[in-house]
Amino acid sequence: MKARTVISFSIVGLLFIVLVQVGGMVYAYHAQMKEAEQSLNKCFRIAFTETVDNMVNTLPYPNGTVVNLISAPKRMHLDQNEFNFIGSEQTAWILQRVYKVKGFPLAALDSVLHKKLEHIYMEGDVTLERFNVNTGEILESIGSDLHPDFTAVTSEKAFVYKERGEAVRAIVAFPFGEMMRNVLVLFGITFLLLLVAVYTLAVQMKSLISQRRSLQEQQLEFYSLAEQMCVPVTEILSELPRQAWGETEEKSTVLLNMTEKTLSKAKAQVQEKQHNKPFSLKVVSVVSLVGIFLLLAVWFGYLYHIGYKKMELRVQDHFEEAFYKEVGYHRYVLFNQTLPFKESQKLTPTPYARRQAENIYDLYRKFGYHIIMNKVFVYHIYNKFDVDYRMHAAYTMQDTINSQAKVSIPFSLQCADSIFAGELRKGGILNESNVHWLKYPSKEMLIYTGSPRVGRMDLSTGLIPLNADSTYCVRGIVRSPQGGIVASIWYMLLPLGVTFLFMGICVFLQIRMLRAQRSLKQFQKDFTYSMIHDMKSPLTSVMAGAHILASGKLGDKPERVERYKQVITDECEHLLVLSGRVVMLTQIDRGELELHREEVILKPLLEDMAEKFLLKAPKKVDFILNCEDSCSVYADAFCLREVLSNLIDNAVKYSREEVEVVITCREAEGTTIITVRDNGIGIPLKVRHKIFDKFERVSGEGHHSEVSGFGLGLSYVMQVVEAHGGGVSVRSAEGVYSEFIVSLPEKVLTCT
Ligand code: ADP
Repeated sequence: MKARTVISFSIVGLLFIVLVQVGGMVYAYHAQMKEAEQSLNKCFRIAFTETVDNMVNTLPYPNGTVVNLISAPKRMHLDQNEFNFIGSEQTAWILQRVYKVKGFPLAALDSVLHKKLEHIYMEGDVTLERFNVNTGEILESIGSDLHPDFTAVTSEKAFVYKERGEAVRAIVAFPFGEMMRNVLVLFGITFLLLLVAVYTLAVQMKSLISQRRSLQEQQLEFYSLAEQMCVPVTEILSELPRQAWGETEEKSTVLLNMTEKTLSKAKAQVQEKQHNKPFSLKVVSVVSLVGIFLLLAVWFGYLYHIGYKKMELRVQDHFEEAFYKEVGYHRYVLFNQTLPFKESQKLTPTPYARRQAENIYDLYRKFGYHIIMNKVFVYHIYNKFDVDYRMHAAYTMQDTINSQAKVSIPFSLQCADSIFAGELRKGGILNESNVHWLKYPSKEMLIYTGSPRVGRMDLSTGLIPLNADSTYCVRGIVRSPQGGIVASIWYMLLPLGVTFLFMGICVFLQIRMLRAQRSLKQFQKDFTYSMIHDMKSPLTSVMAGAHILASGKLGDKPERVERYKQVITDECEHLLVLSGRVVMLTQIDRGELELHREEVILKPLLEDMAEKFLLKAPKKVDFILNCEDSCSVYADAFCLREVLSNLIDNAVKYSREEVEVVITCREAEGTTIITVRDNGIGIPLKVRHKIFDKFERVSGEGHHSEVSGFGLGLSYVMQVVEAHGGGVSVRSAEGVYSEFIVSLPEKVLTCT
């Protein structure tokens, strides 16, 4: 991957992540605020109703005195909570206007509201205001003196004196401050890690680029060195018969010094790289991935915990509603039916309430309205507000039933179960639910709906007592609500997912880069090795040979003189091949290559080459030649020999102790196809497309360090064959064989 791509990817990715994260945070903030507003409204309504209830209970009338009648036409379809709330607003007004209660007790509302908010874990500074809805003027306020802004939620208003436009409301600043703080800390850590990931990626990219650059420089130096070598080496070869050993020694010393200079630079670079001990790829990937997963787990755990707490509150609320309805609509109705008529009508109205009743009756007579009605009566008890008014009412009804019913009226498990399921459904929780009736504290199960089991994945509500000494209790169970919890926090999980995906990609790129650095380092090592083997060693041999010959010590040993001369010739030829290849590649690059094409009969050429290879091969080589006598190509004879010797050379180099080289030639439709096949180590599929590139060498067992080379041979083959208007391809199976297929034109098509 290119440096620019990685850098662009990192910057775009980082910006995208920040955008997604910020978007997610803003969305989450709004969602939380909306949720907080709903919860605040609910608590505020309950607190308001209970405060008004307590105001009624402090009136100086005997228990059971009806002081107000709340009524509404049935066609308004008010639900119980709505009706209670409107009734409380009306009662607050009546208390002040008719019963001369002085003002509305804002402090009492404040303390009740605090308890309710604490119960649902809502924090933040609370302000309560009594204000004029028409002018907006604040008449009284308690708390931190907050103003509604984007950090605060405001409850709906509750009229305390509608005729004067007086209402109360609550404002809560940062209702989920702690959660927001925790999320910000986690976000900060994640962002920091993200920055570290991108930073290390950039650092590695930089070092990879500089490593590549230094290698390129080294390759260029090698190129110019090999080119420079061509003339002096040719001179040495041509001057061998003159036996001017002193000159030969001088020339080879100059070349050796030049080689040494390029080599020492390469060696220094390899050594420098060795000092910077490379990270273990395994350690980097394992540590990074474990880190990412740990952080992901912490994030998920935290968000799940918040979602779970909210779900718990919701389920508890639904179960309390089910309990309240079971008592009110089932047991209390049965209880009332068992009472003599008079006993259930023990309430006495005040003159005001009597007038109200008469008015309602008149309305009914005149217009036939169907009216729902509730009596507000005094009941001198101290309400501790440990439970909300709904549960308070439910417990009061239950106590009355338990102490006064002439026959036992038991809690109806089926009724509670179906109401509970209905309430859960209304709240969007569609999981299976059950109700358990058990003994307390032994928790021995008495009766139950569904299954008596409470699994680790199930959510259980708190116990609700069925009698005053709490020896019998009920609880609600929701089966495996995990899916719902995760769904409720999706907007937090989504940006998180994107972030971790990006981090994962960073780690992946990092590992790839470390791998690339490693293979470059190996490449540099191999390159140095090849320079020593293919340039320095032959030059050293030439210099040493010439030195001995120049000293004249071998004057009386002509056979040894011949041997030294042969060594010098062989080494110079070796150098010339290398240098010639480089020169030709440069010529091809510059478009300066001149081909002297002629018809070349292949069989004698190949037989001659095989013979020469057999002579110098370092291992056992079997040549099998499948070539018809007439098979020919139209090519530059020198270049063709070079191409084929390159392929045969590779077949011998990249094989095990013994090798079978099969060369086949055939003619087809004006083309001659020559295949060189060996049963050597093969070429891995993933690098097969690269081997024809300049300086590309395959890393892997048998391919490098042990075998010298500059990765120029196949590049030379490809370019020369293409210059002839032909093509080269490769087929291989790793560890089994390699087959190079060269196609060359049989004759040139000439235009007339
Ligand atoms: P060099 O032999 O100098 O490395 P080449 O350009 O001739 O360079 O070959 C490029 C790479 O292709 C080699 O390094 C070797 O890994 C692979 N290769 C070439 N020929 C064969 C072969 N016959 N069998 C296996 N691998 C081969």
